[in-house]
Amino acid sequence: MIFYGTKASNLLNGQLINVDCPECKTNTSMTYSVFGKYAYIYWIPIFPMSKVTVAECNHCKKTYEYKDLSEQIKTKLDREKEKSGLKTPIWMFSGLFVIAALVAIAFYVSGQTKDKEQTYIKNPKAGDVYSIKADDGNFTTMRVDKVTKDSIYFTYNDYLTDQSTGISKIDVDKNYTIEKDVTTQKNLQELYKKETIYSIDRE
Ligand SMILES: [Zn+2]
Repeated sequence: MIFYGTKASNLLNGQLINVDCPECKTNTSMTYSVFGKYAYIYWIPIFPMSKVTVAECNHCKKTYEYKDLSEQIKTKLDREKEKSGLKTPIWMFSGLFVIAALVAIAFYVSGQTKDKEQTYIKNPKAGDVYSIKADDGNFTTMRVDKVTKDSIYFTYNDYLTDQSTGISKIDVDKNYTIEKDVTTQKNLQELYKKETIYSIDRE
């Protein structure tokens, strides 16, 4: 399946009158078309590429690419294109707008998540799961068991993972068994500030 590539869209058509065809040597008219090439991914245009101009002799029907036309015809054609105010259509940038929108949404969502985590770290609750980056580069979690006025009781995950994406696999009930510990609110906040605790999940 081809899901990316380039396509061409017809942007402009017109007639050039009173030109000499290099092929049939007739003083005649030509029909020209301008195509805008653009890159697409799936069905979404991402960005415009070069424009392609072709012309056809109305007498002998020979088709020319722009580069094969005589200087006289090129000049006429350039003037025509300029007069038409030919512009790259904005829809050819659709994909860039989509990408920009997605980036904006991602920023917004991650901002929301950070706000939420700030609240969570200040008010720990039993069941909160903290994702931790260990000094040795591994990742693990700790889960809050109980919160009292000045202490937070928790259990470490029995497992480590060498990739942060592995967290979801080890964060299961049966992995919180042996290693229990207690800490203070202040200490937790420091760990969060240092990004040792880099993410907080609350059911
Ligand atoms: Zn011709």
